Amino acid sequence: MHVRCIIRKRWQKIGLALCLLLLTLGCYLLARPGKAAGERASLAAAGLDQYDYQLIFRPGESALAVSMTLDYTNRTGDTLDRLVLRTWANAYGTEETSPAAIDALFDACYPEGFSPGELTLEGAWWQGQMAATSYLDEAKTAVAVSIEPLAPGQSGQLTLRCQITVPACAHRLGYSQGIWQFGNALPILSVYENGGWRTDAYSPIGDPFVSNCANYAVSLTVPAGYLCASTGKCELASRDQDGWHYSVTAPAARDFAFALSKDWQKAEAKQNGVQITAYALENAHSAAKYAAKALKVYGKLYGDYPYETLTVCAIDFPFGGMEYPGLVFAGLPYWAAEQKDTLELVLAHEVAHQWFYALVGSDQVNEPWQDEALSEYAMLRYARQAYGQAAYENLVITRIRAPMQERIPQPVTPATPITDFGSLDVYSSVVYGRGAAFLLAVDEMTGKLDAFLHKYCDTYAFSLASRQDFSRLLREVTGEDLEPLMLDYLDTLM
Ligand SMILES: [Zn+2]
Repeated sequence: MHVRCIIRKRWQKIGLALCLLLLTLGCYLLARPGKAAGERASLAAAGLDQYDYQLIFRPGESALAVSMTLDYTNRTGDTLDRLVLRTWANAYGTEETSPAAIDALFDACYPEGFSPGELTLEGAWWQGQMAATSYLDEAKTAVAVSIEPLAPGQSGQLTLRCQITVPACAHRLGYSQGIWQFGNALPILSVYENGGWRTDAYSPIGDPFVSNCANYAVSLTVPAGYLCASTGKCELASRDQDGWHYSVTAPAARDFAFALSKDWQKAEAKQNGVQITAYALENAHSAAKYAAKALKVYGKLYGDYPYETLTVCAIDFPFGGMEYPGLVFAGLPYWAAEQKDTLELVLAHEVAHQWFYALVGSDQVNEPWQDEALSEYAMLRYARQAYGQAAYENLVITRIRAPMQERIPQPVTPATPITDFGSLDVYSSVVYGRGAAFLLAVDEMTGKLDAFLHKYCDTYAFSLASRQDFSRLLREVTGEDLEPLMLDYLDTLM
């Protein structure tokens, strides 16, 4: 045997080994399970701003003491001399500014009469130095904190202390029926765009909240016995004479909300590795089951659910539901046994928001269809998957065709800013119904809506997608110019 032959044999052996290695790797890639639950959020967390909240809940005083630190990096491209935070709780201060005090909601939200809530700012510090603050709107829902000029790419730490007074009110923020509801209660950064900070008003119609994803670490002390439903992974860390201490982490979350009650029962389920927990006065187990079903359907259609946990809870407010990252509030009446079909649809819509709001954010004030119509359409897909074509078609008739034929007494379209809607019913028909009709039309024309929505979720995960982003990607995926269709359904009065 001569040397060349030995060398050739060696190469043959190495080649064979490489082939085997590639084959094994290929088999592994094909056979490996999906991403671990919450992996998308964990991966996205690197480099995001970090909120730390220390919260102490004192139900006897209807109060929540808040101490917040925010590690902030200026990614705006402009040098900033102030940060603007949303302090939505202040809107509940007067009947003129409360989102719960419009005629259509007042009696349901304030059965005992008006009750004020507020956020009292105790101080703000930038890099450890006391900082000047000033409210930018009459309702005090946007507060500017002056800082030393912060160039693009530079970082700093903001500390803020405040006290939230919870109103006796059945709304996103409030106390009612033994449930303490903290939706859009904690101060968070506003969004900086086009050279300025957004200061949208707390519109009573629609969800006026726009925010960027950040990481949240929350420690919450409550009197013994209070269960906590929250964004993120919430653990009862310890109990002592001061009460129960919850510890919560929520990576890459667009907001942080929670609710507390001593009266809830708890039910659990698991789907795709995601821990699902339901808290309610009754039928918690049904809700956990529906949430699991919805996660399964949407995971297949739109890609992995982003978080490790999903929590749904019963809330006393006059809405079907309200979405927060990893958390769904669903209205009390829907939890009764005879309402369970409605609860299932409410949860199907709200769980869809985990993709169309929490994962992919959008301008909920000026383009309300971009999360509502998508979630409504996803709910229809859920119904088809879960209950078949006939159930789906029935829902299309009531939720889409009927709103298309309705006489709408106001000059509004699905892309009308929420502040221009005069009634909740009109808002629902136009933004949800007619908005989803646009999506049905896209699917009828192209047959590619599911593929588009999956790509939309991948492309804009953990960011804010503009309407232009939506339409550009739609053209790319379908290969068709759907701009005229979009104008027709979203911007044209019928
Ligand atoms: Zn919705």
